[in-house]
Amino acid sequence: MEFLKTEDEIELMRAANRLVSATLAELAKHIAPGVTPIELDRIAEMFIRDHGAEPTFKGFPNPYGAPFPASICASVNETVVHGIPDNTPLHDGDIISIDCGALLDGFNGDSCYTFCVGEVKPAILHLLKTTKESLYKGIEAALPGKRIGDIGDAVQTHCQANGCGVVREFVGHGIGKEMHEDPQVPNFGKRGRGRLLKNGLCIAIEPMITLGKPQIIMMPDRWTIKTRDRQCAAHFEHTIAIHNGKPDILSSFDEIEKIEGKKY
Ligand code: MG
Ligand code: MG
Repeated sequence: MEFLKTEDEIELMRAANRLVSATLAELAKHIAPGVTPIELDRIAEMFIRDHGAEPTFKGFPNPYGAPFPASICASVNETVVHGIPDNTPLHDGDIISIDCGALLDGFNGDSCYTFCVGEVKPAILHLLKTTKESLYKGIEAALPGKRIGDIGDAVQTHCQANGCGVVREFVGHGIGKEMHEDPQVPNFGKRGRGRLLKNGLCIAIEPMITLGKPQIIMMPDRWTIKTRDRQCAAHFEHTIAIHNGKPDILSSFDEIEKIEGKKY
């Protein structure tokens, strides 16, 4: 069942999400060729703890019971989601999706941004632009009285119209005291179908979009998810509250985009 949030709870959710956004902006300052994902993980964990929060992802179990070993998911190039930060230096032309979660004062924040490392190819910029645009189209559809399928339809239609693939195995979710609450929020669907959207509902919308085919494969570590065709994937995520009759974006890319500069 879904948990509708009060005004006070939405403000606590906003604080947790603003901390996640600030963490991603802190990482944006450090992302460059030669930097390793494990270094970024240390920076993120320290930043979250220094602000009185817990990194939600650290120790989070997968369906096989294996705890996630880090505070961020760092998914480079063909890795779609759940990349474990490692010691491989980033290269000029890479992309890295950093998904981050924090628990602050009993509520969760969850947001993801795909960063460019140096100069990336135009085809990859097209993927990033399409994915980010689809996130905002999904958010625009998140109105009380509409349904979960309206969000998925908006994301899917935009990505497919731009020649990109929509990953189906992983979806967005309700969020609050738990990182994953009801309902699931797929990045595909049909208008007018699925759960009714109501004021007070907090959800994470998170398109996971591919440059090539949408099929994925799980690596032997049972966390890392890659595209089957090894083409690049992008992942952008905001946590929103449906609030006063409209979507209220609780996380923010503003600081990240100031630091990254306009690339697409
Ligand atoms: Mg996330
Ligand atoms: Mg999420």
